[in-house]
Formats: sequence, C-alpha cells, structure tokens
Amino acid sequence: MSRESDARDLLARVARDHGPAVLASSLSAEDMVLADLIGRERLPIEIFMLDTGRLHGDTLDLVGRIEQRYGIAVRMYRPRPQAVNEYIVRFGRDAFYESVDLRKECCGIRKVEPLKRALTGKRAWITGMRREQSALRGDIAIEEFDQTHELMKLNPLADWSETEVWDYIGGYEVPYNPLYDQGYRSIGCAPCTRPVVAGEDARAGRWWWEEQGASECGIHFSPDGKLIREKVL
Ligand code: SF4
Repeated sequence: MSRESDARDLLARVARDHGPAVLASSLSAEDMVLADLIGRERLPIEIFMLDTGRLHGDTLDLVGRIEQRYGIAVRMYRPRPQAVNEYIVRFGRDAFYESVDLRKECCGIRKVEPLKRALTGKRAWITGMRREQSALRGDIAIEEFDQTHELMKLNPLADWSETEVWDYIGGYEVPYNPLYDQGYRSIGCAPCTRPVVAGEDARAGRWWWEEQGASECGIHFSPDGKLIREKVL
C-alpha cells in the first residue's frame, strides 16, 4: 500500500530531520494509525494528547492500550485548573451550549492553551487531519508551515480516505475507540460530540448545535475559520 509507505517515510524523515517532532493525538482512528506507524517503527516522535477533562471514558481507556502495545508513554497536557474554575464560576460548566463565544472560550481554556504549551520548543507537529473530513479541511497539505506556532505541520494522512484508515486499522489490528462502533465518526469532548447519520460529513457531530460549518475548535483554525498556514508542498 503506497499511501502507507509514504506516510511511514514522511514520519521517519520528520523524526530524522525536524526533531523534536510530536504527534498531537486525539486518539481518533487517524491518530491511532499514526501512533501505530510511530510505535512499530520506534520513531523518536513523542505522542501527546490534550486531556480536556471532558473526554469520554472510552477515549481515555485507549491511552493505556497504546502504552501497553507499543511500550511508549503518551504525554498528557491538561488545562490550567484556575482558568477552568473561573469559567465554571462565571458562566457554568456547560455554558458552551449558550453561544459560540462561550464555546470558543471553553475550547481556548481546555484545548488551545494546553496545545500551545505542548508545542513549545518543538519543530514539527504531526496531525491526523484528512481532507475528506469536512469542507474546511478540503485543501490541507501534507506538509505546511504553521504560522501561529511557528513550526512545520505535517498531515501524513491528508489524502487518505476513511476506508483506507479503517483498512489499516483492521489489517494491523490497531486498537480503536469503541465509540466508532456506535455511529461516531469524529470524537472530541463528550458533551460536544454526537454520532452522525448517513450523508453527514465526518465532523458534523462536533458542536452540532451551532450553525453549519462551525466544526473546528481553534486548534487548527483561527477564530474566523481560516487555517493559518502556508503550504510547503
Ligand atoms: S469541545 Fe466542548 S467541552 Fe471540549 S473544550 Fe470545546 S467547548 Fe469545552
């Protein structure tokens, strides 16, 4: 499978020439493919995840399975407790349902700020984003320069189809989040993710109560919905 060897070669090149490199894993199916490529090749690429404090138990359970299967530690980044407490006291724990601004503020505290810490001092950021996941992701490049964090951003699976991801997972018996078997096609925080129905795009279950198109949290896109980066290839 040439896409697989392309992804493996890219990861090996990034580890060799652009370290320190990190995989930001949400433990999605795509991120599990990347973790498997990194783990089986024993590449010196750190895997980290953002434990927002609102994830499903099924998602968190996967951390131990990665560590056991590949013998590598997944580094956890958590939001600053004071910022979380202030949000809860001022607005309420689930205030993200009330407005886009409050949703973005919650994502800012629980995801964007910890991500910034996780990427500090790194030269390459690897993600599991694919073009087909949503219209907003339709033109992501395999290699980009991320201007916000000022580092290389690699999307080794950008041109993979959903079927190819699941073929890989099935072929190598890679562990995956059991929520996918319940109709989820993109998995984030528990209160902000629902299963999707036939015909919806993969990220339609994220922040589903907001107007169509608001399916990003600010990690990959700016508040106005634009991806801040330059294509390298
Ligand atoms: S996805 Fe929902 S719970 Fe998670 S950080 Fe964003 S608004 Fe908060």
